[in-house]
Amino acid sequence: MARYTEARCRQCRREGQKLFLKGNRCYSSKCALSKRATVPGQHGAGRRRKQSEYGLQLREKQKTKRFYGLQEKQFRNLYTKADRQKGNSGINLLRLLELRYDNVVYRLGFGESRAEARQLVTHGHFKVNGKKANIPSMTLSAGDTIELTDSAKNLNRFKNMEFNRTVPQWLSLDQDQKVGKVLQVPNREDVDVEVEERMIVELYSR
Ligand code: SF4
Repeated sequence: MARYTEARCRQCRREGQKLFLKGNRCYSSKCALSKRATVPGQHGAGRRRKQSEYGLQLREKQKTKRFYGLQEKQFRNLYTKADRQKGNSGINLLRLLELRYDNVVYRLGFGESRAEARQLVTHGHFKVNGKKANIPSMTLSAGDTIELTDSAKNLNRFKNMEFNRTVPQWLSLDQDQKVGKVLQVPNREDVDVEVEERMIVELYSR
């Protein structure tokens, strides 16, 4: 799969917001955004100027896409799916992003970042509803369970792992058994990305 090659901290500086792309480092004083909150590039320090409506909409879309680590085509496809569903397309989109398998694995605390969670999924370390599943883009549903495969349970990284992130209310985690469950589909208030999803809808409706 194609992936971002732009330095991750640079993406945060571009969006002027923490996107939490580097795991624990993002919560420490080493976070690049706390040291240098300017737009990247030679003239970055002076580049926070007034943006057009289109520019603002574009930034909201880019920020959300980067937050979840998706490529444009994947993001656009997910938006098309969200738009076909009943209700608010923006909220539907955020819900679908949260319900992605790799995001759920990250939210449960198995990976330090979404990128790491995605890698763990593609390496086949998890089962969904008792069956091995290694497609990170899968959309999970309420009631789905996520657990380690038998071989993954014997890996040191999982045997010794500590869960140090708060699991959102729409998920549950049995830390001893290392089994997670989707309790319900998330509501808008469960999604912590600071985004005006309305602007993404406006951008794609142009
Ligand atoms: Fe973004 Fe800070 Fe994490 Fe770098 S360390 S990816 S700037 S949140």
